[in-house]
Amino acid sequence: MVYINQVSLTHFKSFGGSVTIPLNTGFTVVTGPNGSGKSNILDGILFCLGLANSRGMRAERLPDLINNGVMREGKAAEAAVSVRFDLAGWQPDEAEAGLEAPAEGPWIKPGQQEWTVTRRLRVAAGGTYSSSYSADGISCNLQQLQTQLRRLRVDPDGSNVVMQGDVTRIVSMSAKDRRGIIDELAGVALFDSRIDQARAK
Ligand code: ATP
Ligand code: MG
Repeated sequence: MVYINQVSLTHFKSFGGSVTIPLNTGFTVVTGPNGSGKSNILDGILFCLGLANSRGMRAERLPDLINNGVMREGKAAEAAVSVRFDLAGWQPDEAEAGLEAPAEGPWIKPGQQEWTVTRRLRVAAGGTYSSSYSADGISCNLQQLQTQLRRLRVDPDGSNVVMQGDVTRIVSMSAKDRRGIIDELAGVALFDSRIDQARAK
């Protein structure tokens, strides 16, 4: 199964320096006092993989994600988060998805053991900011990244990340809607949408 085996955060939210967090297979619990940065690790994953807007990472705007300690009025600053995937056991589904290596941008090769995504957020001295993505060192835009993430079945609209409010939503939703989530997790929803597309033709 594909899983995240390492998260590295530099100047991201409460992380004033650089921290590398190794993760194992199975169930991982992060414990610590309130406000110590547990949820900020998850926000880092959302940020790196482009899975949430700033509100989804509990920030007014992207520059608020840069550690306060490195933000100086009128000075440039940068934050970066890397997420490394363990791909052992990943079976590509190219024939099904009709995908092939793009002319440019990242491409996870069949048989590849690991894959690392990095996102950088830079605030220039003038206050303007920009962010950039790269995968295994190859720079890319969000769409190119999402194409690769979908191959790993990490969907921006999927349930790979379940936030606090989502739990209440899932508990109180109808059985049919809940079934939709299970279909999506099992990978069946993809085929349903292809059937719908084929019927529409
Ligand atoms: P809880 O147990 O309450 O859920 P937590 O461990 O999940 O706590 P987080 O929400 O991850 O804590 O961290 C919150 C802390 O992160 C706050 O103290 C907040 O001030 C700090 N923080 C958020 N953004 C920044 C930033 N840009 N620079 C420095 N600190 C920040
Ligand atoms: Mg928290």
